[in-house]
Amino acid sequence: MAKAFDVIVIGGGPAGYVAAIRCAQLGLNAAVVDNFVYKDGKPALGGTCLNVGCIPSKALLDSSEQYHKVRNGVSAHGISATNVKLDVKKMIARKDKVVKDLTGGIEQLFKANKITWFNANGRLLDGRQVEVTPLNGKKSETYQAEHIILAPGSLPIELDAAPLDGERIVDSTGALEFTDVPKRLGVIGAGVIGLEMGSVWSRLGSRVVMLEAQDEFLPPVDQRVARAALKEFEKQGLDIRFGARVTGMKSGKNVAVHYEDKDGKQSLQVDKLIVCVGRRPATGNLAAEDAGLLLDERGFVNVDEQCRTNLPGVYAVGDVVRGPMLAHKGSEEGVMVAELIAGKGGHVNYETIPWVIYTHPEIAWVGRTEQSLKAAGIPFKTGAFNFAATGRARAMEEPAGMVRIIAHAETDRILGVHIVGPQASELIAEAVVAMEFHGSSEDLARIIHAHPTLSEAVHEAALAVSKRAIHKAN
Ligand code: NAD
Repeated sequence: MAKAFDVIVIGGGPAGYVAAIRCAQLGLNAAVVDNFVYKDGKPALGGTCLNVGCIPSKALLDSSEQYHKVRNGVSAHGISATNVKLDVKKMIARKDKVVKDLTGGIEQLFKANKITWFNANGRLLDGRQVEVTPLNGKKSETYQAEHIILAPGSLPIELDAAPLDGERIVDSTGALEFTDVPKRLGVIGAGVIGLEMGSVWSRLGSRVVMLEAQDEFLPPVDQRVARAALKEFEKQGLDIRFGARVTGMKSGKNVAVHYEDKDGKQSLQVDKLIVCVGRRPATGNLAAEDAGLLLDERGFVNVDEQCRTNLPGVYAVGDVVRGPMLAHKGSEEGVMVAELIAGKGGHVNYETIPWVIYTHPEIAWVGRTEQSLKAAGIPFKTGAFNFAATGRARAMEEPAGMVRIIAHAETDRILGVHIVGPQASELIAEAVVAMEFHGSSEDLARIIHAHPTLSEAVHEAALAVSKRAIHKAN
């Protein structure tokens, strides 16, 4: 008789581990099957986000920003620094320690919550069973569960025209491991990862050229904010080439990238190349054929609003299902499913998921963009405020960027908030709360914001919706 659990979760990333912890809190006996092995050969919880995604990239973004500031950003404050040195290996080692501390923390949480952790490949079988194949070569075992949560995450999309070699041509994981600063860095894809990793290496001294297939910059972002961000990135020296279709490459001592744009055939010589053209759901070996799990044409697991798959008792959460591939979206789905399994109500409000791109300035938004409202024929009004007009941003020497608030033209309900500027990642939380409570721009305008803070730009943008911002001509 197979050993049984109340819940088995396949995948220990932010969607899966959070689901397991919430299940345990609700008194369910949970197990997590996860096959991630860190570069030191040891199994690690936390999935892509903690090991090779959100956390290590933020560690490097912060390190590179410190370096860049000391070298270029503090003279306006009357500070000069000479003989500034960069130790890339130490920077990478710090990043690794941040990762290790956090993934070790999840291991401790699993112990505290009595969650069983299998470092193994998990595969969904027919009849609410999971085949667990340990990575140490031991024999597979089959476990029974009342409920199964699929949270296997996603994998980088590979490009036929730019096959990875793990050394000169790498994906987002390889981009976290350069031991020297490449003199010339190519990036294919000017999306979220491209901008974040391009920023890291540009701040450390690389000359970065990004090849973007589309003509538009960051199509999901409010286009006024995207244009303002692009201007800043170009000032920083990021060379983003639009409408560039990579056709092939030759790798030797360095990499020759061949591409076509509106002017015809082009080529580019770089020392390293990062390929970041999106991610795909990791559903390759997730379920046995006779399990009958329904996928869509792009390989995502088919789910309803509450993450139920077509199989009774089987749920799927995170990057493997529809919606944005964001850690916090996956975590919320994990919590929702755990609560549904425990017989409670659970829901995710997909309208109020915040997005952040951790560049400098940061870009953050929640809700609808102007372009999507126009396309849907929804009447709206807007208010904007530049950080340059706030005392705090001036004092910080961080004047670039703005806050834009979009509200329904008739009801004044906030439909979207878009920020490019200092600490946008933190400022967006206020907008999420306001939208979650169905707030109006008038609500935000009547809330007291501390002076002098960056959040005053949010306040003034809300006032600007009804043309009564104080610190600008309306
Ligand atoms: P992305 O979808 O953000 O960007 C990929 C870019 O590559 C797009 O602009 C696309 O037009 C371009 N592209 C596609 N094919 C191309 C080609 N052949 N040549 C040139 N350009 C091409 O994907 P990503 O940056 O790889 O990130 C993957 C996922 O990870 C995203 O869904 C993102 O949400 C998530 N992620 C989020 C964060 C964050 O929240 N800060 C950080 C990293 C990753």
